[in-house]
Amino acid sequence: STIPAVASPFLSYLNDLYEKHKSLKKGVVANYIPELALAKPEWFGICIVTTDGQVFEVGDCDQLFTIQSISKPFVYGLALEDRLPKEVNKKVSVEPTGDAFNEIVLDKKTNRPYNPMINAGAIATTDLIKGKGATERLKRLLEMFRRYTGREHNINVPVFLSEKATGNRNRAMAYLMLNFGIVSDRIEETLDLYFQQCSILVNTRDLAMMAATLANGGINPITKERAIDERYVQDVISVMLTCGMYDYSGEWTYRVGIPAKSGVGGGITAVVPGKLGIGTFSPPLDAKGNSVRGMKVCENLSQDFGLHLFNFA
Ligand code: GLU
Repeated sequence: STIPAVASPFLSYLNDLYEKHKSLKKGVVANYIPELALAKPEWFGICIVTTDGQVFEVGDCDQLFTIQSISKPFVYGLALEDRLPKEVNKKVSVEPTGDAFNEIVLDKKTNRPYNPMINAGAIATTDLIKGKGATERLKRLLEMFRRYTGREHNINVPVFLSEKATGNRNRAMAYLMLNFGIVSDRIEETLDLYFQQCSILVNTRDLAMMAATLANGGINPITKERAIDERYVQDVISVMLTCGMYDYSGEWTYRVGIPAKSGVGGGITAVVPGKLGIGTFSPPLDAKGNSVRGMKVCENLSQDFGLHLFNFA
């Protein structure tokens, strides 16, 4: 179990940050399925976990929400372990697109999706997850997230069912990739698994713990359990840096400079290598799908503590 830090200068800094952005009213809660629209716009959590295992948190850090696209880099890591980079790279490229996450576009020469953070690339990545049938593959994904967070995870079944019921754009992309031999013919099983991975329930502390585990070279700083082979940590963090914040990723790297991944549930996980992991949660999103308050929090943390990857000041 985690031990939240007692009163400290850093915790009071986080409290000030929380108060400063609480009143921010910009952004819209995702509503492409009714279940996501149930999220309260005022929910707001910030959590920092250091690589030496200190936990600092303010706000609604216990509130559960669906992980959505934040699952993508972690599933990519498992695919690298399952299939090795050579095979994974044949199926998914690592080039940012500048297009929306659900764009129906494949590389013209190789027919590969551009990167594992857009839906097409994420579905191709999920297809690579090993296991005998749907149950074993899902259990392996849940088990992976348990290693990162130190906690058992469940799926929000209504979210899964409505993602599946309304996911025809993702289905179309999957079949296009099947046509090109990018994904295997267990495509309906893989689509279910993809919709399930998006529907995994996490809280703000989980997102900070996942980031801290990557920041710590793949070992959860609290449980000391290894979540991912050390060899693939740099691959996972790299795709977060270049493609993690939808079609705002270039600007994010320029302004904030912390590899991160966001999801339409309102979460952001951000990795400061060797130092700490950041988790934020606030459902209202900007037009590109990034949490408005979460982006502000990361931007402030980066500036106030010089956390930009290329900061020399
Ligand atoms: N389940 C969503 C989809 O595949 C993921 C949305 C997201 O977080 O970007 O459309």
